Amino acid sequence: MLDLADILAAQNIIKGQADHTPFVPSPFLSDKFGVDVLLKLENMQPIGAFKLRGAMNAVMNLPEGTKGVTCCSTGNHGRGVAYAAKLRGLRAVICMSELVPKAKVEGIQQLGGEVWVKGNSQDDAMAESQRLCREEGLVEISPFDDPYVIAGQGTIGLEMLSARPDLETLLVPLSGGGLAAGIALAAKAIKPDIKLIGISMDRGAAMAASIKAGHPVDVIEVASLADSLGGGIGMDNKFSFPICRDLLDETILVSEEEIYRAMQCLFYEDRIVAEGACVVGIAALLGGHFVPKGPVATVVTGRNLDMDLFTKIVTGQDIQLGDYQIKGAAYVRP
Ligand SMILES: *Cc1c(COP(=O)(O)O)cnc(C)c1O
Repeated sequence: MLDLADILAAQNIIKGQADHTPFVPSPFLSDKFGVDVLLKLENMQPIGAFKLRGAMNAVMNLPEGTKGVTCCSTGNHGRGVAYAAKLRGLRAVICMSELVPKAKVEGIQQLGGEVWVKGNSQDDAMAESQRLCREEGLVEISPFDDPYVIAGQGTIGLEMLSARPDLETLLVPLSGGGLAAGIALAAKAIKPDIKLIGISMDRGAAMAASIKAGHPVDVIEVASLADSLGGGIGMDNKFSFPICRDLLDETILVSEEEIYRAMQCLFYEDRIVAEGACVVGIAALLGGHFVPKGPVATVVTGRNLDMDLFTKIVTGQDIQLGDYQIKGAAYVRP
């Protein structure tokens, strides 16, 4: 199984390319909660999201003679794989579902990746990616259930704790659990009593449902402001599920309305443009789901969102997500 040594090895591999994003206090949130609230700004990565860490560690560890890579991704992992493959001079084919916003598809093409859109769930995209491996000899890189990917994401934990050894709690956005598993492994190896909380949206949170059930379960995928948190964890999950099950102290689910308000808050108070998936930690704080008693950090995981949607949110307009409507409202300081 994975341990701290794997994460230290990953740190060496990503050095100078995907590491040391800013780690800054939010003056507004710190003041509001009376403790230091820190933001790890992975939205500042060259691909606009933390996924570059794991993708780069996985791609650089592939054996000589690899033909190319493929993955299925809601966007950011695909961007990371395309970027890392280009650095190594490999072909990258990215498979994704029709739910993924157009801006994300174009973003991957700009990074030099080929994009194949297949089906309307993450599982359909996964099947297509597996076909490419069988028929074209590409190597699939899972967005979360891969030891190198998990170790790469874990480097975020090393950076946060080396900057602030006094951190008591980490609020980590949770989807397939590669991010949470990696950060939990790193953080708990360095500081065993640190608290790790995984946070998802309350519609279609596969990892939270799986932890509750004690085994991987399928959930119905629906449109969410936190689209980067959509998708299943894989029924044959080998790594991210057991690590999240064993190391997360708690999972919290936040509503679409809470995500909407957290996006407004991060923009108006800290002037940060971030995806819905990134603000779930802030949504948990503002929604009163978690009351911090000491220094707390959350990962602002990415910035790759549709700017029309973002403009609607910061101007307080209604948002239609499939058959679900979020009632808009202008920002009011919470
Ligand atoms: C992938 C992703 C997450 C969730 O990471 P997992 O490893 O799948 O849990 C959160 N935020 C953003 C922006 C992402 O791209």
